[in-house]
Order: sequence, then C-alpha cells, then structure tokens
Amino acid sequence: MLLIVALLGTVSAAAIEVVWPTSMDRTSIRVPEDYLQATISEIPFSGSFGMVREEGQRFHEGVDIRPTTRNAAGEPLDLVFSAMDGQVAYVNNATNGPYGKYVVLTHPKAELLVYTLYAHLAKIDPAVKVGEAMTRGKAIGLMGRTSAGAAAITPDRAHLHFEVGLILSTSFGSWYSVQPENRKSPNQHGLWNGQNLMGMDPMPVLIRTRANLLDAVRSQTAVVSVTMRTATAPDFVKRYPMLVSGDSEHAAGWRVDFSWQGMPIRWTALEAGHALLPSTRWQLYAIDNSVRKLLTSRKMITPDAKRAGELLTQNVEILLAGVR
Ligand SMILES: [Zn+2]
Repeated sequence: MLLIVALLGTVSAAAIEVVWPTSMDRTSIRVPEDYLQATISEIPFSGSFGMVREEGQRFHEGVDIRPTTRNAAGEPLDLVFSAMDGQVAYVNNATNGPYGKYVVLTHPKAELLVYTLYAHLAKIDPAVKVGEAMTRGKAIGLMGRTSAGAAAITPDRAHLHFEVGLILSTSFGSWYSVQPENRKSPNQHGLWNGQNLMGMDPMPVLIRTRANLLDAVRSQTAVVSVTMRTATAPDFVKRYPMLVSGDSEHAAGWRVDFSWQGMPIRWTALEAGHALLPSTRWQLYAIDNSVRKLLTSRKMITPDAKRAGELLTQNVEILLAGVR
C-alpha cells in the first residue's frame, strides 16, 4: 500500500517544463489583455480560448498572442518558440488554409502525447523539419498573419495562434475522404488537419513553468457522454491509455465522456452484454443540462438536446474511423 501511495505521489508531481511561445516576457504579464490579440471586433477576450467569437456563437480553439515589437512596416518582429521539449510532426509552408503557414509539434515527454500548434507564421525556420527534435524555447519561426481564411489578418492584428490538445485518430484520412463536402478539396495536411486536432484551453499550461498535461486534460469537466459499440478499439484508446478505465482488452464498446468543446477525456470499456451498449454503432447517452446552451452553440447537441450535434457527430465519426 505504501508503495502505491509513493508511486501515485511521483506521478502527480511529474511535469514538463513550459516556456512562453513568443518573444514576450512571461513575467511581464499581469492581466490577459497584456498578451491577447483581439479580433476585428476589438473585444479583448475574442483572442482567448472558447466560444468567444460572433457573440458566443463561434468557437476559438486556441489563444491569440499579440506581438511586442514591430518593424517600420508594422509587421511583427517577435519570434515563435517551442513551448515544451518535443518533436516536429508537421510543417505547412504554404498559405493554403485558415492556419496559414503553421507548425505542429508533439511532446513525447509529457504525461500524454499532446500536440502544440503554431499558426499564421510569417516565416518558418528552415531548420524545422519533420522528425527533428525541438527543445523548449527553440525558434520555430517569425510571428505573422498568414491565413487563407475568409477574412485576411491585417498587420495591426498579426499574432501567434497557439493550440494544445489531443489527436483524435490516426485513420483521419479515411473519414475525411468519404465526406461529400470534401470531394473537391483533398486533405492537404494529413493527420495535422485542424478537424483531427482537439484543443483545450492553453492558458492553464502556458502560465506555468512546469505543467502536468494529463492533469490539464483531466481537470476539464465531462458534460456530454456517448456510448459506442465496436469490435476493435479506436486507436485513441491505445494512444491515450491513461484516459481509459475498465478492461479494454475485452471491450465490446465504450462509454466516452467529452468536455464541452468536444475533447474525449474519459473512456470506460463496456464488456459484451453491458446494459449501456447501444443497439446502433453509437448514440448520445447523457448531457449536463446546466451547460445546455453552451453545448448547443458548440453544436455538441441539437437545440432540442435530444440528439448529437454536428460537431459531436464529426468527432465521434473521426474517433471511429478505421474501427470495426
Ligand atoms: Zn486564433
């Protein structure tokens, strides 16, 4: 028993070192307005994580960090740095999507394999290549405003869009290719397409000099549950076993609990014959009614709260891509 307690103690104390991902001095930050870059709405919190856009109707999956210094033309001079020790997973050197030029890192030293994403870069350091190690604080590139989104980012709103989160599925491509709306737009980013990346609020991680990423994921509240029936386990379960409870070897299905923004944070294996196993491939099982409005805006549920909304459906289908 003593040994177990000692081990648990070690686990919860474990943490990875975190540095601020731009040239801004983290110790100079007093209030969120010090680092947030607002959208054209000029509402400071439109740069933070959450349902902060279009009067709470549009989700922002990361945090927008403003520059501290600019050149004569008004373009940022701030560098963008790796927030934690990690490895380069993806480099997109073209302005061909809403993220513009972006880099994705993964962090094998963290308690679970999170990704971090650095978007709208003006320039990516040529030394940043897929598979290369990236120690924390190493330069990724220059802060900018590249984006092929609906509205251009003007120089006064240049920023780093920073995300941290989990990768939904290694079979993402097989889901993407069968979506009718994607027939004319092939996936240009492989697994590192934003639809396959599920972010959480980066600030609890970024404000610390050391962070436990597993604690950060688990500290989110589960507010939506689905049940699914599968003969094989989704690869998410194998990549993030620390989020799983029950006998995953003999599971005939799963109960999956999601955070409000759609991150699957808790998986419970259901054995054959379990009363919770759905008759269909998957179904909405429960929601927390106290956040019903938020869940409706995020499209986690339909407005009548009876069915899964568009976003929850998409995330569950991605999680089940390649699963029998
Ligand atoms: Zn952003």
